[in-house]
Amino acid sequence: MRTYLILFILLFILPFAVSAADTHDGNLPHVVILATGGTIAGTASSATELLNYKAGNISVDQLITSVPLLSTYASIDGEQFCNIPSDEMTPAIWLNLSRRVNEILADPGVNGIVITHGTDTLEETAYFLNLVVRSEKPVVITGSMRPATAISADGPLNLVNAVRLAGDPGAKGRGVLICLNNEINGARDSSKTMTEMVETFRSPDFGLLGYIQDGKPVFYRESTRLHTTGSEFNLAGITTLPKVDIVYAYAGMDRTAIDAFSANKTRGLVFASLGNGGYPKVVQGALLDLSAGGIPVVVSSRTGTGISVPDDAPLISADTLNPQKARVLLMLALTRTGDNETIRKMFGEY
Ligand code: ASP
Repeated sequence: MRTYLILFILLFILPFAVSAADTHDGNLPHVVILATGGTIAGTASSATELLNYKAGNISVDQLITSVPLLSTYASIDGEQFCNIPSDEMTPAIWLNLSRRVNEILADPGVNGIVITHGTDTLEETAYFLNLVVRSEKPVVITGSMRPATAISADGPLNLVNAVRLAGDPGAKGRGVLICLNNEINGARDSSKTMTEMVETFRSPDFGLLGYIQDGKPVFYRESTRLHTTGSEFNLAGITTLPKVDIVYAYAGMDRTAIDAFSANKTRGLVFASLGNGGYPKVVQGALLDLSAGGIPVVVSSRTGTGISVPDDAPLISADTLNPQKARVLLMLALTRTGDNETIRKMFGEY
């Protein structure tokens, strides 16, 4: 009996354990999967439950072993960074995540990183990393809209595509990439646009950067805005990011939210204006008071596309950034300067 047990371990368990450890095939790109949770790591009690599930419920090792095909395309290392629904993502986690991404990419043996992430705040994490990662190597963020237990789960294909993209030299130097549903979008311009559908990530102003065609990344465009190695933002020595808040405009609004954020010591405000920068007269004074008091006010739009041009000169245009991305840039801008005109210039460059 004992002999059989030893034989079983030698034949079946040991080879698997060795292959799961570090046996990087020199011919394949070396890709690190950094898992943060989300629906791609989510489980439900049945295959048809697509909405009622627990996000961030399976480990990175389970994710990797459930898609054996991954090892055809890359030597993979998995690292569990955290395991949360992305609703729980915070600027403090962004700081730690960006440090870990920079550390991993500094290893000459690593070709690229895939970050698995919940889709709800994926675009914010992607844009943050786009501005603070110090490497040309591909950083690809993926996720899924259906949990891992779903019939026709989208996670496995998204993961395979993301790994192939992260290992592809053609993906270098393009900034952080978002890869789901066979599409490659840029971190700056892409946003989650639908609550339930797998084609949720869209770049409404400028379009996607490319497709994954039969598993091969094909690029058509690139962003002209500064990112990664071209970015001035340096987080060395920074332990917390400045508090920046967002106020959403609507017909009949008053200044309560703006005053409350001001009283709560906001360091900067993003205003999601009604159209291309407009707001009711009733909030004009509150916005201008903040700006005059040294709290930069960046005006974006609730429409989802287009450039915002604020009604009043001291306020800063978010350019085409949506409110949540404008907040990310304003937080980083405030780590460098409090000067309104310098911040205005940054919004024209990033
Ligand atoms: N609520 C989930 C999350 O953002 C949604 C998803 O991952 O698609 O973690």
